[in-house]
Amino acid sequence: MNFRKIVQGFFFSITLLAGIRFIFYISALKQGLDAGLKPGLIEGFLPISALMGLKQLLVTGEWDMIHPAGLTIFLMAIIMSAVFKKSFCSHVCPLGFVSETVSRLSRKIKLKRWQFAILASIKYLILAFFSYGILVQMNPGAIASFLHSPFNIVADARMLHFFTSPSRTTLIVLAIVLFCTLLLRNVWCRLLCPYGALLGLVSTLSPFRVRRSPQNCTGCGACSAACPNDIEVEKRGTVYSPECMGCYECVKAKTQADCLSVPLPHYDKLPLLIAGVVLGVFLLAYFGGYWDSSVTNAVYGKILLP
Ligand code: SF4
Ligand code: SF4
Repeated sequence: MNFRKIVQGFFFSITLLAGIRFIFYISALKQGLDAGLKPGLIEGFLPISALMGLKQLLVTGEWDMIHPAGLTIFLMAIIMSAVFKKSFCSHVCPLGFVSETVSRLSRKIKLKRWQFAILASIKYLILAFFSYGILVQMNPGAIASFLHSPFNIVADARMLHFFTSPSRTTLIVLAIVLFCTLLLRNVWCRLLCPYGALLGLVSTLSPFRVRRSPQNCTGCGACSAACPNDIEVEKRGTVYSPECMGCYECVKAKTQADCLSVPLPHYDKLPLLIAGVVLGVFLLAYFGGYWDSSVTNAVYGKILLP
């Protein structure tokens, strides 16, 4: 049984349900009805706001209560990456799930390492742009001002609008990414996602790296073929790549008993541990008051529907 696929499907379904709940929430606000609580999970799609929340937390010790769930998810993803590599990308992220699913339909193009390095620099440039602008250039006053701005308060509603009423440009860009994903594995995650770029850099701290034993390797290539991120495992000694998602599909696909290993007992059960950690963090945040926004429906609705 592939626990990772089950866990990925579970979190994708939860995100989909949260998206549907958010649509009803906005609709109720528009009709002046009791909208109930906004689903916090939606804030996971606001990484820029979360990065500002993180800076505010580091500088002032104050948790951002405008999008508290967004900051909770962001911190959780970073800490998970430092321990279990990019397990957030390979087990939790709904975009990663979609990208991987589409990628399975085709893998026509295989990039050389230098070609990949050039293309992957796109996500690092985007990450550097936002990191410099937020972590270096913005002072705490500017951060607080942005976090409490009407623009940021309803950023999740605008994100929903982006997906539910896409502009022609958005549709063209999405079609291009989809088409490229049919040619090249995981285009969004490997080349474009700055969130994944950050988690990848943090993940190099993780001790749970895949190791190949050259004396036991026959060079069959089964491990490389199984890797969703096209890492040439069969040519590495130890996989240090920031692209490694800690999915361990390569180890599961090994054809020799001792050709590949990972210093993590029961690595095949890791998805269950990841699911438990995520649900545990959610419960702690929910009951600890770090999940639901302090913005009331009246204020949210007033900004959204002036
Ligand atoms: S190298 Fe192995 S663990 Fe890393 S992403 Fe590829 S298949 Fe997953
Ligand atoms: S699956 Fe094992 S034997 Fe085959 S290339 Fe990978 S490490 Fe070598």
